[in-house]
Amino acid sequence: MNTSEIKEIKVLLSTPKKIVIIPHKNPDGDAIGSTLALHHYLSGLGHHSTVITPNDYPKFLKWIPGENSIVKYDNDNDLAVSKIKEADIIFTLDFNHFSRTGNMENVLIQTDTTFIMIDHHQQPDDYATYTYSDVGMSSTCQMIYHFIEKLGDLDKINADIATCIYVGIMTDTGSFRFRSTTSTTHRVISDLIDRGADNTRIHENIYDTNSYSRLQLQGVALKNLKVLPEYKTAYITLSQKELDDHNFKKGDTEGFVNMGLSLEGIIFALIFIENKGENIIKISLRSKGDFSVNEFSRNHFEGGGHHNAAGGKSNLSIKETVEKFISILPSYKNALNS
Ligand code: 5GP
Ligand code: MN
Repeated sequence: MNTSEIKEIKVLLSTPKKIVIIPHKNPDGDAIGSTLALHHYLSGLGHHSTVITPNDYPKFLKWIPGENSIVKYDNDNDLAVSKIKEADIIFTLDFNHFSRTGNMENVLIQTDTTFIMIDHHQQPDDYATYTYSDVGMSSTCQMIYHFIEKLGDLDKINADIATCIYVGIMTDTGSFRFRSTTSTTHRVISDLIDRGADNTRIHENIYDTNSYSRLQLQGVALKNLKVLPEYKTAYITLSQKELDDHNFKKGDTEGFVNMGLSLEGIIFALIFIENKGENIIKISLRSKGDFSVNEFSRNHFEGGGHHNAAGGKSNLSIKETVEKFISILPSYKNALNS
């Protein structure tokens, strides 16, 4: 996004507009944090803005300022569609291809309005009038901070906005540890704390809300963990029955994939989770160093994401999916051992 585009957006935002802000399906901390941060900022400028998520999100995000104003497309379809149809501007955050919005895709494809994309995933599509894409960024939340900065409005970041932005930077960087965490990320975080983000409370609200059944499910995941040392790979499976037996709620498996990656010598970790409702196996992939899980998932599991963190899916059974995965691995033996 260059200076003249920023000037055009400033002009666009100089009179009150109807604005819709959309994150990807199964929104995470960065998706909810960035959409709500932008919502608070735009509301403060006098716009009429609404966050519309494709579907529901985990309980550990249901305290973020403004969260109760979110419209869920799959619950409140008529309202969501009419807001989208009426919108002067639609921001799409933390994704870069309409297919990432699930059933909303069809509505978005047919909507002719000004789209503004702000996102840090690889290989952005070209649907937007204005595209702010930076795959080196820690999070879309950090990009929202820089977007507000480019508009010359850092002084408009209040405690609510600071809190929302903090959430997404923290969750997308694994609490400031992944490679995407730069000195600039830390400077942004420091400014957010100065502007009212309560860092200790935010960490507690996100990470210290385990239920007993979720911890037990984590135990099952650890028991199911398999290691393939010749490929420096570890993977976990969770069947629908195992989820059902542990009172599974959306978000309960968040972070499990990292347990495999924490093993000494492992650079590629996956979790395969059966979802009988959608009739798919949802896959999360993580890596360390040069091995691209974005490429791996794009090539074999209809997914994508970032270099070191990606998602994907399979329409086979969980057993067949794992077999397919294991049959692919030998062609990556060199890449995984280089
Ligand atoms: P997670 O494994 O936590 O669901 O996702 C890891 C990263 O990959 C996130 O940035 C997420 O947005 C992205 N991602 C997850 N699933 C998919 C998918 O099916 N397709 C694409 N392109 N990206 C995905
Ligand atoms: Mn993100």
